[in-house]
Amino acid sequence: MSAVADSVPVVVVGAGQAGLSVSWYLGRAGIEHLVVESSTPMHAWADTRWDNFTLVTPNWHCRLPGYAYAGGDPDGFMTRDEVVDWLAGWLGTFDPPLRTHTRVSRLRRTAGGFELTLESVTGVESLRCAQVVVATGGYPLPILPPFAAALDPAVAQIHSEQYRNPQRLPDGAVLVVGTGQSGAQIAEDLHLAGRSVHLAVGSAPRVARFYRGRDCMTWLADMGVYDTPAQQFPGGKAAQEKTNHYVTGRDGGRDVDLRRFAVEGMALYGTLIGGKDTELEFAPTLSAALDRADAVYNSICSDIDRYIIRAGIDAPPPYRYEPVWAPDTEPTRLDLAAANVRSIVWAIGYRPDYRWIEASAFDGGGRPMQTRGITEVPGLSFVGLPWMHTWGSGRFLGIDRDAKYVADSVVAALSTATVPDILPENGVRL
Ligand SMILES: Cc1cc2nc3c(=O)[nH]c(=O)nc-3n(C[C@H](O)[C@H](O)[C@H](O)COP(=O)(O)OP(=O)(O)OC[C@H]3O[C@@H](n4cnc5c(N)ncnc54)[C@H](O)[C@@H]3O)c2cc1C
Repeated sequence: MSAVADSVPVVVVGAGQAGLSVSWYLGRAGIEHLVVESSTPMHAWADTRWDNFTLVTPNWHCRLPGYAYAGGDPDGFMTRDEVVDWLAGWLGTFDPPLRTHTRVSRLRRTAGGFELTLESVTGVESLRCAQVVVATGGYPLPILPPFAAALDPAVAQIHSEQYRNPQRLPDGAVLVVGTGQSGAQIAEDLHLAGRSVHLAVGSAPRVARFYRGRDCMTWLADMGVYDTPAQQFPGGKAAQEKTNHYVTGRDGGRDVDLRRFAVEGMALYGTLIGGKDTELEFAPTLSAALDRADAVYNSICSDIDRYIIRAGIDAPPPYRYEPVWAPDTEPTRLDLAAANVRSIVWAIGYRPDYRWIEASAFDGGGRPMQTRGITEVPGLSFVGLPWMHTWGSGRFLGIDRDAKYVADSVVAALSTATVPDILPENGVRL
């Protein structure tokens, strides 16, 4: 590795919408900084979403520093390519100091700040700084279960972030595992394309797309649900651990009703708990999972009803979801070969990956311990984490507020700090 090559007051790691939003505020404050990105700016939208992807959040939620959705369909849902274009439009409004195709492979504390190891095709370098903002996304490491490796190698396996379209999967039936937002929408994408789909239903709740004349997410925003600080959120930590509600923005937006899919021929199961070769085993949880998801759907409708009464709003009448199907039995086994399942899409989420950061800033699960992004390690902050401040954090709706808060705290820290005195390579780690 080359000797310490350079220093800059602030490094932002990651040029997604979160890191670039912090950069926008730092630039406006006249703070010298560098945004280091392992790929290209905001590439996750183009590279890790499927072809028929649409936003789940309405377009009016899309706002970034100095820039908001200004198209003709604020209550609609941009497609993947429209999101990519919209983000490119934002990037054209300012000039962030970017270093692309460069991965930060190590971040360690030094006496006066931090030393980062940067890796790119041109080699390995070091960079010193006083402040680091980690903006590497809330969805870094795709999860696969340990037993995935024991399954029949003839069955293709991909994670949801690799899924593009039905044609790219081998012919035959497909098993989708997981019913968070990605799993439910990918199962629908395959189902609409006429593929035979088996779906392992998890514990995700669901929400109506529209209710009493408006998008549910617009009602919830008016009710202040996305602005409630995490500490005051009803249900506390448990609510924050839950998978996001499944619903879709496809074709102008609609509910995702797994029971309706079952009526139309999709095979539903409970949680997938194990497998070997071609044999899979499921927990008998399907009925309960469907009931729970519908109960959440209806309880959100009730919350909206109460708000409508409180606020004296004239709205169309209330209704409740009535199940259109229920399983006769709990299927607990599937033989992939017998059912001609030739591919599996794992949509069971992501886990954090901060192994490259050498600092005592993480809990037992490897998640940053932070308050509104600020950690107790001086100079180390995060942005773009789900629930970092509110339910809106980690999404378009909340990123501007969160980024401004983090950038303001970086600016304040720099204005009170002494000039960093970085220890040499073999210096004492704090
Ligand atoms: C499937 C899916 C659907 C979503 N749908 C919506 C939606 O409808 N509405 C909504 O508001 N939000 C949605 N989100 C949430 C959120 O808006 C996106 O995840 C968004 O991409 C988050 O932006 P980010 O900047 O925090 O992270 P990312 O976009 O993931 O950016 C992080 C960047 O850091 C870079 N990076 C990572 N590690 C390093 C390193 N060590 N060194 C250098 N660079 C590094 C990555 O290459 C990446 O470019 C969705 C998320 C997913 C996964």
